[in-house]
Amino acid sequence: MQLKPYSSARDEYSKTEGIFLDANENPYGTLNRYPDPNQLEVRQELSKLKKVAVNNIFISNGSDEIIDLCFRVFCKPGVDKALSFSPSYGMYKVSAAVNDVELLEVPLDINFDIELETLTPLISDKHIKLIFICSPNNPTGNTFSKEKIEFILKKFNAIIILDEAYIDFSETESLTSMIGSYKNLLVCQTFSKAWGLAAARVGIGYADTYLISLLKKIKAPYNVSQLNQEAALFALKDLIHYKNTIERILIAKEELKYELVKLDSIRKVYPSQANFFLIESPDAIALYNALVQENIIIRQRHKLVPNCLRITVGTPEENKALINAIKNIDEKSFIYR
Ligand code: PMP
Repeated sequence: MQLKPYSSARDEYSKTEGIFLDANENPYGTLNRYPDPNQLEVRQELSKLKKVAVNNIFISNGSDEIIDLCFRVFCKPGVDKALSFSPSYGMYKVSAAVNDVELLEVPLDINFDIELETLTPLISDKHIKLIFICSPNNPTGNTFSKEKIEFILKKFNAIIILDEAYIDFSETESLTSMIGSYKNLLVCQTFSKAWGLAAARVGIGYADTYLISLLKKIKAPYNVSQLNQEAALFALKDLIHYKNTIERILIAKEELKYELVKLDSIRKVYPSQANFFLIESPDAIALYNALVQENIIIRQRHKLVPNCLRITVGTPEENKALINAIKNIDEKSFIYR
């Protein structure tokens, strides 16, 4: 790729001491200076925690930015294609459309698993440049086996974006350990979920250094603000809080599941390795609307998976309010009987 990235003032001189008259900043204030364009401190802290070298880490404005950057780096608009599985995270489709790239959506099987046979005819399609694998998958909550992911990594001449947004809630191990073995693997994680920083917008990519260098070429020079970098650093330095909140969410998740399965209006609670459940209801739209009336908002997924809804695990109090509301709806309703 011949593109030359914009070389910012902070790229050209990165030391922090001195009289800075190089970036047309305002000399007064506390947020008056441009942030580190390379997010070095965040990457160093993550490197220690995740045991991945600093140069294999890319920081973004939410992991949604990485999804978009991948289309822009690897796909020729109107020519190339991307592949994802269905149902999965909706942003792959949106980003594909924004970048004028056709997205092939391969259906998952009845257990929401990848059927490798459905991929075989696509291996020869040289226009497939990106493959999105979301594990744990949103909205189904299941993970995909390392063997299946490795099959895809080996067989396709494409960049495999392994979206691990929910991995910290999962018993399944992250596959960041495989970036040394597969130059076409880009593992995405985020500070938005287990780290509790959705408002800050900080995403993470782990990959081979060449792949990272391509992302760096086209990202906006200062893609992650000083405030966002500080929020991520603050979280990274308080691992006790991070681990405690995950533990509390996982305990609340088990309690929530125990209650959900008892309800008339819930036919099935799918197993989940994430901080949410996909549930099936005899009438998902009616249940959704009735909950909105009670000011409880869950996610309508009916169009993706018929009669399904996605419920995020909240605090024990929020979960209790949800369960009580559904019990009341069930008592008043005759549609499920
Ligand atoms: N991947 C998945 C699977 C998600 O569910 C989400 C957020 N809903 C994202 C990526 C985007 O996360 P971020 O906040 O880091 O942009």
